[in-house]
Amino acid sequence: MATAEIVTIGTELLLGEINDTNSRYIARALRDIGVDIYRITSVGDNAARITATLQEALMRSDFVITTGGLGPTVDDPTRQAIADVFNVPLEYKSELWDEILERFTRYGLMPTENNKRQAFVPEGALVISNPVGTAPAFIYELGAKTTISLPGVPKEMEHLLNNFVLGYLKRRYKLQESVIKAVVVHTVGKGESAIDELVGDLEKLKNPTVGLLAHPGQTDIRITAKASSQAEAEQMIKPVLEIVREKLKPFIYGEDETSLESVVAAGLLALGKRLAIIEYGTDSELFTRLNPLAPELTIGQAMGMEPSNESLKTLMKDISDQKTADFILGIRVRENESKSDILLTYFDGKGYSETERSYGGPMGDARLWGVNTALDLLRKKMNLVNL
Ligand code: ATP
Repeated sequence: MATAEIVTIGTELLLGEINDTNSRYIARALRDIGVDIYRITSVGDNAARITATLQEALMRSDFVITTGGLGPTVDDPTRQAIADVFNVPLEYKSELWDEILERFTRYGLMPTENNKRQAFVPEGALVISNPVGTAPAFIYELGAKTTISLPGVPKEMEHLLNNFVLGYLKRRYKLQESVIKAVVVHTVGKGESAIDELVGDLEKLKNPTVGLLAHPGQTDIRITAKASSQAEAEQMIKPVLEIVREKLKPFIYGEDETSLESVVAAGLLALGKRLAIIEYGTDSELFTRLNPLAPELTIGQAMGMEPSNESLKTLMKDISDQKTADFILGIRVRENESKSDILLTYFDGKGYSETERSYGGPMGDARLWGVNTALDLLRKKMNLVNL
């Protein structure tokens, strides 16, 4: 794997006047072509310090990308610093000067004597022509080592990086385009720390990596692989995915784009059963999520007044007597700063059940937690759980 460092040049970076967005941009681009970055450094506009920084960086890494310090003033010391790194003089390139003149003419400007500085590059450098600005960029190769000097202006740097430098690096260091593939496994009804206990070992893997993402009542497990092809990434993910599927089986309701409500709606459609939902304190979230997916089979009833356990049960019995639904689910969420409580009631031909739980998470999450738990209850009642 090729190794690289990024050196951003400019005193304004050290004074905290601008953010070093160039490093971030370059680091991501290099990551995507499989380059290992050893270090990122920022250094002021001082040729001797830039030279020392680059010499050190080249001892550790195959190549260094610099940004900034290529303007026409004496404060733009990158050209001289690179010439000193490789111990060569600066060389005047008439074709570069012609390019600079041509650009100035296009912009209706007159170049100054200073601009001539930009026509100098370290002797033996490979010039990268810069159609989007006036600072010429260049590459210097010595044996297996390389420096690539790009302008500081982000738009110019990005253009040259994407249109020339990345292709050049792939050829020179025989880099393979890498593919990043991720599979997300969705679980419900088991907390993040309990999931962590079950798949914690996998979270130490380097490639593929396994990470958890918690939502109220749900936890996602993301498996991400980096490889040279889609097929290879899938092969790498497969054994890890199998372990996750095996260990978390009853809690998994789907993968990637599958939502909990789509699983429940598909269950209703497959069974041809009608579901009545009675909600309090949820802003009708349960009905709003389910109804568009099974409009014929879902009936919603929001309650303005807080129902007692008893009144909820009576209402459910009434609906059952009217035979307008096969399953009836009640949810009552009472959110509170310190502690919220959630009541879930369920009624079908086989009988009535009720569970009450308190929820200590942040305000606003109790509702989501309750609705997700209600969907999980329906999933279980319809025997959609993998055992
Ligand atoms: P030019 O001749 O076009 O000025 P240059 O290579 O000399 O190019 P600098 O003078 O070092 O570039 O920087 C020009 C501007 O680009 C800076 O004023 C700043 O706004 C921006 N810039 C420089 N370095 C960075 C960086 N690392 N991250 C984000 N922006 C930067």
